[in-house]
Amino acid sequence: MSTHIQGQVIAAFGRQYLAELPDGEIITCLTRGKKSDVACGDFVEIKPTAEAQGVIESIRPRDSLLYRSDAYRQKIIAANVTQIIVVVAAEPPFSDELLARCLIAAYDQKLEVLIVLNKCDIADKAAAARLQLAPYYSIGYRVLELSATQDASPLRPFLQGQTSVLVGQSGMGKSTLINGLLPEAQVATREISTALNSGKHTTTHARLYHLNADSHLIDCPGVQMFGLHHLSFGEIEQGFIEFAPYLGKCRFHDCHHTHEPNCALQQAVAEGKIDARRFRLFLDISRPGSQ
Ligand code: ZN
Repeated sequence: MSTHIQGQVIAAFGRQYLAELPDGEIITCLTRGKKSDVACGDFVEIKPTAEAQGVIESIRPRDSLLYRSDAYRQKIIAANVTQIIVVVAAEPPFSDELLARCLIAAYDQKLEVLIVLNKCDIADKAAAARLQLAPYYSIGYRVLELSATQDASPLRPFLQGQTSVLVGQSGMGKSTLINGLLPEAQVATREISTALNSGKHTTTHARLYHLNADSHLIDCPGVQMFGLHHLSFGEIEQGFIEFAPYLGKCRFHDCHHTHEPNCALQQAVAEGKIDARRFRLFLDISRPGSQ
């Protein structure tokens, strides 16, 4: 006979979690056994085991699950998010491929997308970054330019009513952005690390912050790779949203858009209707073994 309580996972540190209970209390949780597929943002059933401690017994159905994968393993990023915010910066240079991969994952989970171009105070570098982002502007992705060291507040209206996950390569200024939006975040992270006695893990976990009653923000470690091994060729095709008018119009139904005759995508690229750089990214990402 045990009573389970409900909570939301607000921090994931390897196999240790912090869960927030409906009354605001935060408790430390573990999972049963070795296997752990709990994500930051998950709503869970918890069996209390001791004062402010519990075991996660089950995960409630998710509205979305953002994760990356390679041939060997999956890495869960966040659950129940409604929006992905990809942070890139004027410097250091950002990876086109990583950005494209994040957007494919977002499309697969039906998430809203916002691209943030940070460090726009570095004028000459910002101009080059804007040029790099030009295809994304023209496809219709929302791009917000800001300089987090000066003012992170332009991002606020985009967060309202959403559970957003912030992703980006390290060095893009993601932490500066979080600290600008949530000055108390650094303190909270320190306190939690002390509570968990795991100072060494402070930079390798995901954290959920409440901005207000219906706006939440999940910060996760910087990523250098975003494997999409779990997606099919067709799902990757669809993740390039500007391809939509041409999909299904190739001569061959199983066209891989590489060398086949009468390929609608190749033709659209030749006519300048699809950006050639984006198309090359598609060929790279969809090549068997490189998802
Ligand atoms: Zn084709």
